[in-house]
Order: sequence, then structure tokens, then C-alpha cells
Amino acid sequence: MDGGRLVGPVHRLSFAVNREKMFDKVLIANRGEIALRVIRTCREMGIKTVAIYSTADAESLHVRFADEAVCVGPPASKDSYLNIPRIMAAAEITNADAIHPGYGFLAENADFAEICGEYGIKFIGPTPMQIRMMGDKITAKSTMINAGVPVVPGSGGLIADVKEGIGLAKGIGYPVIIKATAGGGGKGMRIIWDEASFEGQWNMARNEAKAAFGNDGIYIEKYIEEPRHIEIQIAGDQYGTVCHLSERECSIQRRHQKLVEESPSPFMTPELRQKMGDAAIKAGEAINYEGVGTIEFLVDKYRNFYFMEMNTRIQVEHTVTEEVIDHDLIKEQIKIAMGEKISGKNYIPEMHAIECRINAEDVYKDFRPSPGKIVSLHTAKGHGVRVDTHVYAGYTIPPYYDSMIAKLICRARTREECITKMERALEEFIVEGVKTTIPFHKKLMKDERFRSGNFHTGFLNDFDLGTED
Ligand code: ADP
Repeated sequence: MDGGRLVGPVHRLSFAVNREKMFDKVLIANRGEIALRVIRTCREMGIKTVAIYSTADAESLHVRFADEAVCVGPPASKDSYLNIPRIMAAAEITNADAIHPGYGFLAENADFAEICGEYGIKFIGPTPMQIRMMGDKITAKSTMINAGVPVVPGSGGLIADVKEGIGLAKGIGYPVIIKATAGGGGKGMRIIWDEASFEGQWNMARNEAKAAFGNDGIYIEKYIEEPRHIEIQIAGDQYGTVCHLSERECSIQRRHQKLVEESPSPFMTPELRQKMGDAAIKAGEAINYEGVGTIEFLVDKYRNFYFMEMNTRIQVEHTVTEEVIDHDLIKEQIKIAMGEKISGKNYIPEMHAIECRINAEDVYKDFRPSPGKIVSLHTAKGHGVRVDTHVYAGYTIPPYYDSMIAKLICRARTREECITKMERALEEFIVEGVKTTIPFHKKLMKDERFRSGNFHTGFLNDFDLGTED
């Protein structure tokens, strides 16, 4: 099983002739809360599920709740959740007709999507070509420029060397941000305020990109000062129809990583939503996008917005959209993959929802990961409160993966009520045995600036956490 790619496609289910066919069994190529999230929807749709897991995850709830489970390797992701031959073998032996990749791991791996196709197994997501077009940030930007979507002004291509970079930065005007074309998770990005610091920052960004992505291709953008990160959820079917499902506000970030998301954005106006929604649809239509996806924008204080990148998968924060438009996005993904048509109708939030990411991290020690055994756990409950998690009392958080252990989502009629509900929910969310981000969220919910809705992506840079209780 380990010797590279399996050979020869297996003919099981032809989607070309059998488009409306219901999936019988879906393999979930992921772990943690998202694997469980997909299993839940499959159950409701009458679809059987196969979990894959590493030896470190044998006790995880996604393994327990799936109809079948296959161990695909040892703890290290590269040997298990990224081990394509083993995952394909697991799909083969269990007779799965489709694979849901979740987020992270292989979700934006075009080769994986292609291999699924070769095996006659439907990849629940966009086509390999769509993933490739959006996966490389420079190609994505030029596709958007051609589609008439506003993008952040920048170099328009890879920078050959420091000299060219300095010349371009002068033209764009400082501050600029240098980014890795293969970047993700906030890595490989550096803000440069003046020419004197260009070379040092350039070298650091290159090294970081090389180490993280094995690709040191760098490009330059204008650094938009005090922007908001606002993204538009879209959905497209196999017949070219694309619609949008409104926005998510994701400006509460620590080192470019999202911690809290909400919908609607407190900065949104009906006019801006119309414009950003139209741009997002244009972006999806430009590549005939199939599946659910997200168009990420930066929005400046004058409400100018610029395309930043597209995520061609379900996102962690899809839950807030589900809460405000009352639709199951995983179900939409599966229906689209089965060949169903979407109506083409756009959606506007009818409620307010906020998500707090509960990570096993010590917020008083620079958010250092805090893996270990959860000795006791009481999750928040009650009206308008949702918790998506794979953990339970007695569960040991392995040190090998992402530190997110739960998502706490609250929904109410107004933003103010939603924040109050979140405060109440955080009070009763008790995790003992490991440190979590709950103390941070409690502080944030009380913060006047957060409550006023007037913040930008740099908000947490000078946020005072106080001292540990
Ligand atoms: P990644 O793919 O690593 O997550 P993104 O391109 O999505 O990187 O950017 C992540 C975050 O970095 C954004 O949400 C924003 O806070 C910041 N950022 C990225 N590009 C710019 C820019 N041109 N100007 C200002 N901030 C930016």
C-alpha cells in the first residue's frame, strides 16, 4: 500500500452518466471536528460514512460515530492524513463512492482530487483545474483581474530578486507586504515599511516560505492599512450557476490567523454587500466554480474592497453562515457533488452569529499549544448555542495536529444580543486539564471596541489580555 500511487482506475460509479445518483458511502479524509461535522450531515442524508484515522486518533469521536473506520498510519500527518495511497486504499476496501476532504490536509490538493477522479471516486469539491487556478495566488489574482474583480495593487507576478523587489515597492508605495505564492495560514508574509528594511524582510520571508511550503516564490502587494478581512461565501453547481451566501467578518486575527468570525459584518451596508456579492459571483463564474468556496477580500476604511484569495473548500467558519441563513453547507456540498442544480438565489443574513475558536493554547504564554488530557469538560448549552467538537472528558489532545478543539457558535437576533449570549456561553464552557483560548474570548466579548464593531485586522496587536485569574 505504501509504494506510491495505486495503479489502474477502478470503475464503480460513473458520474458522467449517473449524475443524479445518490452517494451510498462517503469517506472523510480528515479528522477532528470537521470529520464529525461531515459524518453528521451524511447520517441525516442516509449516506454511510468511513472515517480514516491515525494511530494517535483511535479514540477520537469521528472514529466512533462513522459507520466504518480505517487506520491509515502513524501520527505524523504526512504518514496518515496526507498519505494519498493509503487513503485511496481505504476508499477501495470500503467501497466508498465519494471522498469529502474537509479543510486543511488534502482539501486543496489538486493531485489528490485528480487521483480520486481516476479511481471513479467523486471528490466532494471543485475540479482539479479549479483548485490549481486558485491555489497559486498569483494565477488567482490574474484570473480575477481578467474577470473584472478588484485586486490588491501589486507586482502582478513573482519577484526575481531583491533589486527588482525594491524597484517595484517604490512604484507601489510603502508600506508593502511580501507574500509567498504558495502561502497559507499567515506564513511567509512580511510587512515592509521602508526601503532600508526591505532586504532583511525579503530574506526572512523567502526562508520561511521555503521551509513551510517548499516553494520560495514571492510577490509584493500594497499593504492596505487598517483593513478588515471580509469574505463572501459562494456556491456553484456543475452547470455554471453561482450564487453567494453573504459575508463573514474575520478581522479578529492573531498573527493573520482567525480567532473569531461573525456574520453579518458590523461594517457591512446593503450597497457594499451587493457589490462584494456581485464580485464574488463574478469570481466564481470566471472559473465555472463547482462546490462551496470563499472569496476573501480586504476592505479599507472607505469601503473599497480588494480580492485577496479564494479558498476552494469548506472553511472552519462556515458555521456562522449556516446559522444566519439556516442552511447546512455540507449538505449543499454533497448535493452539488451529486449533480444537483442550485437555484441561483443569493442569501442575506436573517440573524446574527458569532463563532469563537476554542484552541488548546495558553493565551498567557503567547498562545503556546497546550495538548494533553481533558480531565473534565462542560460545553455550553441552551437556546441559540452550538458547539462543534470532537473532544470529550477523558480525551487526550494529541500534540501532532491543529490545536483547535471546539467551535462555540452563538446566534441571536442582533449583534448585541449575540455578544451577550456568547459571554454567557463562555462562562459555562469549562475545560479542565488543558489551557484554552476561553479566557481570551471572555475578555474580547467585554471589550468596548469589539462591542462597537469598530476594529480592523490589527486590532489584537495591542490587545491587553491582563493577567491570569
Ligand atoms: P493566508 O493564505 O496565509 O491566510 P492571506 O492572503 O489570506 O494569507 O492573508 C491573511 C491575512 O493577512 C489577511 O486576513 C490580512 O489580515 C493580512 N493581509 C494579507 N494581505 C494583506 C495586504 N495586502 N494588506 C494588509 N493586510 C494583508
